[in-house]
Amino acid sequence: MVQLVKIGSVKFFKVVILTTALLLIIIPTITSIALGVNCYAVKHKLAAANSSLIETQKLLDKSKSEAVSDPVKGDLANSAIDKTPSFEYQTLYSSLYSSIPYDKVSDDHIAYLTFDDGPSSNTMRILEILAKYNIKATFFVTGPSSESHPEYLKAIADAGHTIGVHSYSHKYTEIYSSVDAYLMDFEKMHSLVKSISGVSPTVFRFPGGSINSYNSDDYMEIIAEMTRRGYAYYDWNVSSGDVALRTTSAEIVENVLSGAKQQNRSIILMHDRLDTDNTVAALPSVIDGLIEQGYTFAPITNAVRPITFSYSK
Ligand code: ZN
Repeated sequence: MVQLVKIGSVKFFKVVILTTALLLIIIPTITSIALGVNCYAVKHKLAAANSSLIETQKLLDKSKSEAVSDPVKGDLANSAIDKTPSFEYQTLYSSLYSSIPYDKVSDDHIAYLTFDDGPSSNTMRILEILAKYNIKATFFVTGPSSESHPEYLKAIADAGHTIGVHSYSHKYTEIYSSVDAYLMDFEKMHSLVKSISGVSPTVFRFPGGSINSYNSDDYMEIIAEMTRRGYAYYDWNVSSGDVALRTTSAEIVENVLSGAKQQNRSIILMHDRLDTDNTVAALPSVIDGLIEQGYTFAPITNAVRPITFSYSK
């Protein structure tokens, strides 16, 4: 049976006070419990995140140390470390040094005739033509033909032309495989020239030019090392095109003269090889045409300002 409490009675106020007191206790208690539970969940999540962070850090450290010890797994930063050159080649061939004079010669409108890959059975014919015009030129020579025909090499030196190192083997894949390989080939050719002709070359020309598709990985390092040793290298700014297939002597003349017309000073690329008879045939007309353009002639020495291909290809 429900007992009704009369509003305003003493009992009524007792009930109101009791209910209020109960609510004041229950509400904060429930709120506290809810907050406590929430707090626990957050703490748990934090701990989990923290331990996963530690795991990630450990994995990172592990992969880094593996990369250092194993270049194959190396990341970018570590492969940069692995590629740091040792420069040990600087200690090789301790007498292979030269020095470049500080003052350069004035070479306004000078043509430097250069003959690569010789000596050859054409060398003496080239020397005859040059002697007739009283012109000194430059021969960048190679190994095997120098060994089989030392008399040609000696004739070049005796006539007062410059002998520069081209390379011993002229095999791109071998000489450009490393700085050490390049140096070994260069030293071999350098000492061969010296022993045959008595001349110690101070200038050189890279087979294929200083920047080519075979030395893209290490050309800067080879150039830096050769420059450090005091050797000057010369590319060309006029090409005769004489080794291109079926180039006629008339085309060689045209290539050289049209090329030289656009230059103030010209380093002209030609070849002294078995298969470059057309170069010999073209040579007198090449010289006559250059004289007509106002050119005089000189051999390359290390006092000549180099003409080199640009690094930024
Ligand atoms: Zn060559």
